[in-house]
Amino acid sequence: MTEHHHEHRNAYEPDCIFCKIAEGSIPSRKVYGDDEIYAFHDISPWAPVHFLMIPKRHVPSMAQVRPEDAGLLGRMLALAPKLALEQGCNPYPEGGFRIVINTGAEGGQEVHHLHLHVIGGARPWLKG
Ligand code: 5GP
Repeated sequence: MTEHHHEHRNAYEPDCIFCKIAEGSIPSRKVYGDDEIYAFHDISPWAPVHFLMIPKRHVPSMAQVRPEDAGLLGRMLALAPKLALEQGCNPYPEGGFRIVINTGAEGGQEVHHLHLHVIGGARPWLKG
């Protein structure tokens, strides 16, 4: 557990795999991109639809989110339902999706760049 996982909120963190995905130096299957948000398919999906939404800026986890990040997080959440439908999630209420944000070791977080999992398309899908 190194300090940079918890403190750095740089525009770009050179050791971060999701910073490299957002930037394009590591390839990914794109779902969506704009100036501040990038979404891509999870490499190891838990369900027929499973993509990740990240801020392009490096925020390590929900634990580092600050009041000034509320707008960005709100835009990510507000965008998720549209992307979920586009990616094949069935409509609410029979269909739907789940949004998961693992945070820290006890939250099951493995990649320390804030990401929303958007998961759906079938049930049951729960991991573990
Ligand atoms: P966490 O456990 O941190 O919430 O989830 C990290 C997710 O990132 C996992 O579901 C994992 O499959 C996904 N992942 C890890 N490395 C890569 C990668 O290089 N490309 C893609 N597309 N997904 C990745």
